[in-house]
Amino acid sequence: MTIATVNQPHDDESGAHADVVVVGSLNMDLVVRAPRHPQPGETLTGHALVTTPGGKGANQAVALARLGASTAMIGCVGDDAHGHALLAGLDQEGILRQGMRLTSTRPTGVAMIQVDDASQNCIVVIPGSNAELLPADVERGDALLRSAKLLVCQLEVPLETVRHALDRARRHGCTTLLNAAPAMALPNDVLARVDWLVVNETEAAALSGQAVTHPDEAAQAAQRLRRQGCRRVLVTLGAQGVVAACDDSLHHYPAPAVTAMDTTAAGDTFVGGFAAALAREAGVETAIREGQAAAAIAVTRAGAQSSIPHRDELVTP
Ligand code: ATP
Repeated sequence: MTIATVNQPHDDESGAHADVVVVGSLNMDLVVRAPRHPQPGETLTGHALVTTPGGKGANQAVALARLGASTAMIGCVGDDAHGHALLAGLDQEGILRQGMRLTSTRPTGVAMIQVDDASQNCIVVIPGSNAELLPADVERGDALLRSAKLLVCQLEVPLETVRHALDRARRHGCTTLLNAAPAMALPNDVLARVDWLVVNETEAAALSGQAVTHPDEAAQAAQRLRRQGCRRVLVTLGAQGVVAACDDSLHHYPAPAVTAMDTTAAGDTFVGGFAAALAREAGVETAIREGQAAAAIAVTRAGAQSSIPHRDELVTP
């Protein structure tokens, strides 16, 4: 008889345990609103500056926590005002931060987001301390991974760190989810470490080498990515919903119909809602529906983390 090993909750030295561990980026978003984008060399008077927490890793951790998952974050911020504010933000959301590191060698990552009166944006990201998140940081957070059910990663930190986190998680029997954003090609050895790959149209195209604009193309790309090594693939298609390729079956889940006003962090909210449901051991379909329900609320609200709903707001069909 084969007896499967079931991970027991196991506290790290500080007594910390979370069902989901996010290894990823934290940025301070500096959002500048101006009537229009300046020409090169021009100085323009803008409307307002808003400073707000961001970064795909932090956004997904916040979505996970608000949507009901006990969550820990492994990341790196600068020992500066932005870094301390981001750590305080994690505390406010109830996200464990024993796996966070403060560095004095680089400033906290920032995203300069310029938005004009037509809501068009231009963004410059300075990775800063996110570029300093190293495999050694994953090692320091190993006790968190050992007791977690699910690891969630993105690609705003060094690829070697993501690879190491995927490796450690799998060694501990922890399910792995990679949101392969921003878009880039990935070696097959990374894809082979991924249980759930979540990508939007651009990312699916970058990884599969084929155009992805509608559900049929998403299904083809997802099948190709499964052949490249990842076990299950979800392609998010904005208002067209999600295509899922799991265990040789293909399904299209149309998105709930809503009037979108700001799609910032739609993808991060979907990942958070989906992953929070997986961590509760919900079925795949329920997890996709919960991710979609959460993202459908997020697109009706302004901002990134400010738009992410709490679990009691979800209405799933
Ligand atoms: P972003 O980069 O803006 O955070 P993304 O490109 O990573 O988003 P999308 O595919 O645009 O991700 O959206 C993720 C999910 O959010 C979709 O699969 C869908 O469930 C939901 N969503 C996005 N836009 C809409 C919309 N207009 N109406 C309803 N749901 C939406």
